[in-house]
Amino acid sequence: MTKYKIAKIPGDGIGPDVMAAAVKVLEALEENRNVSFEFNELPVGDELKERTGIALPPGTVDEIKKSDAAMFAAVGDTAREVILPIRQQLDLYVNLRPAKVYPNVPHLKENVDIVMVRENTEGIYKMIGDRGEGWGFNVRVITTKASERIAKYAFEYAVKNDRKLVTCVHKSNVLDLSCGVFQDACQSVAESYPNIEYNEVIVDACAMRLILRPEAFDVVVTTNLFGDILSDEAAGLVGGLGMTPSGNIGDEHAMFEPIHGTAPRLAGTGRANPMATILSAGMMLDWLGESETAANIENAVIQVLKEAKTLTPDLGGSAKTMDVAKAVSEKLQ
Ligand code: ATP
Repeated sequence: MTKYKIAKIPGDGIGPDVMAAAVKVLEALEENRNVSFEFNELPVGDELKERTGIALPPGTVDEIKKSDAAMFAAVGDTAREVILPIRQQLDLYVNLRPAKVYPNVPHLKENVDIVMVRENTEGIYKMIGDRGEGWGFNVRVITTKASERIAKYAFEYAVKNDRKLVTCVHKSNVLDLSCGVFQDACQSVAESYPNIEYNEVIVDACAMRLILRPEAFDVVVTTNLFGDILSDEAAGLVGGLGMTPSGNIGDEHAMFEPIHGTAPRLAGTGRANPMATILSAGMMLDWLGESETAANIENAVIQVLKEAKTLTPDLGGSAKTMDVAKAVSEKLQ
């Protein structure tokens, strides 16, 4: 029996609702999958800031470090004060966002199964800049070290997950100084992976091609801001926020979260779709080395979606958040 210590960060809005659902599914695994979980709940976010004046209490990042992995749900206005420092202090340099079509989930395009690998530590999010009267700027920083390690992650992901193609998305034709570094790094890493096909697309063409021919993409590796925008576009193609999980991953630590926010109008109503958080918990298990159990979670989600008896309102059903968690848990028995 392997016991995992999990930092659990529900946050605000629907965060606690979808987190409770994902925890229920993980607890269901304890019955017959040879794993168990000890959850350490860490308060962060808007509501905490209102009460105490601070959104990310000191010691939170240390608690995550002491855990085997972290699960995060959502925070609202304080996202910048919470998520960015956690990503930076734990050096979670990969933002991994799969976007795929699941059964009975309304979607714009068929045959989408894309994994976005977004660099998570630099680019325009380096927060270097200034603002004065009538002017403002942010500096975009791209380094070979960060670009090579994200490219290597993308290729390793492709190898491990039997993916065939890695696409580097850039804007070197205009942003030659910064994107040039990224493109060069991707090309040099690609040379070490002769069995994985490699190509490059300029970001604006990529945005259009994602709509016209999403099936042409497999693993996509890109810089921070491009990845932020393109991964939401990919999520939109496959049915939106309630179904899309993600991981913030480093060499030593990782934190998994649905890509949606706090959806405040749904908070506490039982109408939030927990699938993205449940799938994020599956990604966490995969990262912890429990790949078979992770696949069991995804299969259980697929079965519940196929049966279409227990779906939340965003998917056309009338089930409550915890009904979905129960249905997924039952498929794992
Ligand atoms: P925030 O300010 O935290 O980003 P938001 O409501 O502006 O919150 P999201 O939480 O990302 O942004 O969601 C936008 C809309 O998508 C919500 O109002 C809701 O209708 C829908 N939505 C998001 N997540 C879910 C979910 N898990 N289940 C059902 N609907 C969702």
